[in-house]
Amino acid sequence: GLRLTELHKSFGGLPAVRGINLDIDAGEFFSLLGPSGCGKTTTLRMIAGFEQPDRGAITLDDVDLVAMPPHRRPVNTVFQNYALFPFLDVRRNVAFGLKYLKLGKAETARRVDEALALVRMSSFASRRPAQLSGGQQQRVALARALVLRPSVLLLDEPLGALDAKLRKELQGELRAVQREVGITFVYVTHDQEEALTMSDRIAVLADGLIEQVGTPEQVYSEPASAYVAGFLGSAN
Ligand code: ATP
Repeated sequence: GLRLTELHKSFGGLPAVRGINLDIDAGEFFSLLGPSGCGKTTTLRMIAGFEQPDRGAITLDDVDLVAMPPHRRPVNTVFQNYALFPFLDVRRNVAFGLKYLKLGKAETARRVDEALALVRMSSFASRRPAQLSGGQQQRVALARALVLRPSVLLLDEPLGALDAKLRKELQGELRAVQREVGITFVYVTHDQEEALTMSDRIAVLADGLIEQVGTPEQVYSEPASAYVAGFLGSAN
């Protein structure tokens, strides 16, 4: 599994993450939930390698990730803004990261087909991103991340730019895809309902620290503090 030990990160002397400890199991759908500024994205960026922790450890199956450059980590990220290449069609967007693996044409095509089928985008393979809806673009971004078969997929508010109806629909799809591929998902959201419906477990963050870790039922029904109760709407 993925283990975070006493992670700390400050920016210009202001602490963003103040000592985070977490054990995330292989294959888990794990959410980091909390209000804006509580340190969710900073935590995710340290796992990805986009930020170096000031101190603390990050290991995956006891292998140190902090010493590893980002592109070597068996970790991939899906961002809120999709970050697709506008000048490449869907198939080439998904194939992009595979270039460096030197798999050969047939194997590359097979893996791209598989990833597109997983997110139900096979029939859109030759479209450009601008010819897709937001939800479809996010499905392509997911396929592009999964095609590399990471051990851990990091998702930073991936549905944040979508309207409520589409968000609901994609919540179910994301969860189904995660079950199917069995990859560990670390999912950042400020939306309590989203975290409660999708996650195996949730860490509720406040001000750079974890307030509570538990199943959706535990954090909702047995909030560890007034803060957690308030944030999850389980107060009174
Ligand atoms: P949001 O949902 O708004 O993204 P978050 O919970 O993900 O919030 P972070 O983005 O991790 O929170 O930010 C935590 C704190 O660290 C905030 O006070 C933020 O302003 C600060 N911070 C994050 N990144 C930087 C940076 N590169 N430079 C300076 N301050 C930063």
